[in-house]
Amino acid sequence: TVRVRFAPSPTGMFHVGGARSALQNWIFAKQQGGVFVLRIEDTDTARNRPEWTEGILSALEWIGISRGSYEGPLFQSSYAAEQAKAIQLLVDAKKAYHCDCTRDDVVERTGNKHSGYDGHCRDRGLTSGALRFRTPDEGVTKVVDLIRGEPTFENKLIEDFVIARGDGSPVFLLANVSDDITMGITHVIRAEEHLPNTPKQQLLWEALGHTPPVWAHVPVVVNEKRQKLSKRRDRVALESFRDEGYLADAMRNYLMLLGWAPSGDREIVPWSVIEEEFRLENVNSSPAFFDEKKLRAFNGEYIRALPLSEFIDACEPWTSTIPNFDRAVFAQVAELAQTRIALLSEIVPNIDFLFVDRPQLDDAAWQKAAKDAAILPAVIEAFEALSTWDANTLKDTLVAVGETHGLKLGKAQAPVRVAVTGRAVGLPLFESLEVLGRERTLQRLRALA
Ligand code: GLU
Repeated sequence: TVRVRFAPSPTGMFHVGGARSALQNWIFAKQQGGVFVLRIEDTDTARNRPEWTEGILSALEWIGISRGSYEGPLFQSSYAAEQAKAIQLLVDAKKAYHCDCTRDDVVERTGNKHSGYDGHCRDRGLTSGALRFRTPDEGVTKVVDLIRGEPTFENKLIEDFVIARGDGSPVFLLANVSDDITMGITHVIRAEEHLPNTPKQQLLWEALGHTPPVWAHVPVVVNEKRQKLSKRRDRVALESFRDEGYLADAMRNYLMLLGWAPSGDREIVPWSVIEEEFRLENVNSSPAFFDEKKLRAFNGEYIRALPLSEFIDACEPWTSTIPNFDRAVFAQVAELAQTRIALLSEIVPNIDFLFVDRPQLDDAAWQKAAKDAAILPAVIEAFEALSTWDANTLKDTLVAVGETHGLKLGKAQAPVRVAVTGRAVGLPLFESLEVLGRERTLQRLRALA
């Protein structure tokens, strides 16, 4: 059976590129009737933190890869015995040798700052120091990659690479292969960044007596300047998108478009279509642009597609932060809000005016609106005289008052909006006033007239 793994290192926030690889592994396993293994590569003890592992688990859960439906989490640190055995096997077979060269030694001998290891210790018979794998001097290593065809590497260009440190502990290349063998992995689907490691790792698979897996190196994710997304420079944490009010469905749909597209001229498609149509063979090998603006627009579309009650529920993590929030009041404007926000977090500045005694005035907004604020006493007078309080009547009334002051509706609205909501932009004004009610509206207008 097909067995794939997603093998993140818990050294930071969960990267959107990682989430994309996880989803691709997940779908592939599902299509093949295979198993998805989650392996936490937690051997970098200086940089690991348990909360990063928790973050990975909860972020995966959020995008639909839920605990209980995969094997694991397995922890790389629990497989030290197997890794040590693999190392010993290579030593016994003379496929690995000790080396005490420093980087400076190598550079001095080769005269090249970028040169790989020169094989100096190959036949010195040292009994301590780092361990290097003896790579073949001839032939080629051909890897089968579902996305890239058969990248072929000349063995003589593959340096004798380190597999264990002086203290015997395995390095990434070895631990990663040893675990994949132990866990029976058949397909390695991972980011393109690892392609240079692949011939080395395939040589290890073979030296350890196993048939190498099928590989698939998915394209690197880049920003608008075509630079690889980096956590220092770019916004990459899946958690930050979740916390800002991206919907999981929008997020995972968008992530799957990084390097791939469903049939037809479609981008927004149900998850079931993606699960059905996705093929690793159809993944593009060129860099995939992570377009945050597009993702945002996507999210807006997903928000608008929600049934109203689901939209109201989805807003709960944000609306619950509003003091005196009242769900029934929110429900009266929810539909208006749903059509105009792109992120769930944007619900707060759109509706918070409904739940305060007095809105906090945005100074810049008020300064701009204040030049037409002379209209307010007349607006108050006209509103006080109304026998009904509904959006249409309010609008007609303001149009009429504006006319007597030589102000178009847009200008007449501005001071009213800022006085009532505190802000220059927001939900449609007259519906807002209707929901806010006569007394509270008049009180706010009077406070600024
Ligand atoms: N821990 C490695 C990483 O996060 C895993 C690489 C792999 O998938 O083989 O980059």
